[in-house]
Amino acid sequence: MPDKNVKVNLKNLSFSDSVSYYFDKAAPFTGAPQGLLDQIKTCNSIYKMNFPVKYGNEVRVIEAYRVQHSHHRMPTKGGIRYSLQVDQDEVMALAALMTYKCALVDVPFGGAKGGIKISPRQTSPEILENITRRYTTELVKKNFIGPGIDVPAPDYGTGEREMAWILDTYVTLNPGEINGYGCVTGKPVSQNGIHGRTEATGRGVVYALNEICSYADDMKDIKLTKGLDGKRVIVQGLGNVGYHTARIIREYGAKVIAIAEADGAVYDENGIDIDDLYKYRQEKKSVKGYPKGKVIADSISALELDCDILIPAALERQITEKNAPRIKAKIIAEAANGPITPAAEQILLKKGVMIIPDIYVNAGGVTVSYFEWLKNLSHVRFGRMQKRWEEKHQTNFIKLIEDLTGKTVPKARIDSLIHGADEIDLVNSGLEDTMIEAYQDIREFKKRRKSEIDIRTAAFAVSINKIKNSYYAMGIFP
Ligand code: GLU
Repeated sequence: MPDKNVKVNLKNLSFSDSVSYYFDKAAPFTGAPQGLLDQIKTCNSIYKMNFPVKYGNEVRVIEAYRVQHSHHRMPTKGGIRYSLQVDQDEVMALAALMTYKCALVDVPFGGAKGGIKISPRQTSPEILENITRRYTTELVKKNFIGPGIDVPAPDYGTGEREMAWILDTYVTLNPGEINGYGCVTGKPVSQNGIHGRTEATGRGVVYALNEICSYADDMKDIKLTKGLDGKRVIVQGLGNVGYHTARIIREYGAKVIAIAEADGAVYDENGIDIDDLYKYRQEKKSVKGYPKGKVIADSISALELDCDILIPAALERQITEKNAPRIKAKIIAEAANGPITPAAEQILLKKGVMIIPDIYVNAGGVTVSYFEWLKNLSHVRFGRMQKRWEEKHQTNFIKLIEDLTGKTVPKARIDSLIHGADEIDLVNSGLEDTMIEAYQDIREFKKRRKSEIDIRTAAFAVSINKIKNSYYAMGIFP
């Protein structure tokens, strides 16, 4: 239990200290004994590796990590990031967040995270492939990867391509392993990936916000109307998460008025055409000079523009005690991991901002990773067994209605009614259900408390309670 007499200086917390601080804040609401809380909070295994890689004529030593935060459920799960910011503290923080995230959305994994300290943009694909394969080999050597051990996935700076390299290396080193394809998720669909994984985190963010904004009373408290329709949104980051969030939230009637990228932000009160901007950025490798809307050179200042919902979807520690006082958003949804520091959070909560924490709002990625892993272990695509059966069943049903009423159902109606579920339909439906259920758990927990607790504290408490229950089920703690 944190000593209540010791005042935490929020400004000096490292990233992993910040996660521990949130944990400690929620722990008193769980009724878990101290020994168990200590076990849940601690990082179980930390593997730091250094290995040589050839860059043309020279050899460079690469620093990399894999951290397994909690083994209360196996396998452990979490992405691998490629960035120059990677260090042990960051990977530990991200691994811990994975534990709480998985528990919160009932994904039966422990938390883990990996990181390689490189700049993926400044590294050639050939060298990136060498680094990825060597990293995977190091994980195999130490038994740190496998469908029942630890299952990596994409994160900042990695994607399908890297996951395919990891898979290929793993199955080469483990020939004949029947479930080998489940050693990594976020794979290309052609390599036993799953439809909908690429956009899953962004789609999950939108499902979450749609649910959050559906409670008229909660919205009234922060002076907003019910629903996503017409909401003015700012997104930071046009990477995988930011791009899909921005694209999908428009389908719900929200207007994305600004996108902040590393080298500048684009602002347009009429709403940004996300695909157009994305294409421009892909071609020019920058948002600078984008002809539609206003380009703001000081990108981080775009987070301070007036809006209803701010979605930081880039890296950690973007909103600190320095810029928090100037943030005008009524809702901040942490699509990235750890984008708000605890010192900033204190300021924002005082201002009445509704903060939707990362461990809930960005859990869509790992949720669909779980579906992918299930698909790999079952060796069958979702929907394969029942799709035709469902369609025949529905067709018979419509025929019956037509026979009984003597009326004909229009063809377009029939087509939409009989459509049997494809993999993507099931994935999106499972994802939506997960995001709704988890929010209802958090909201109910928060409501039950007499004292006011914030959403993050409620989310951590719900999560800790679920982990506590798995430990009790194991019989380790009395
Ligand atoms: N990197 C993602 C996250 O931070 C996804 C992890 C996964 O799918 O295992 O949640």
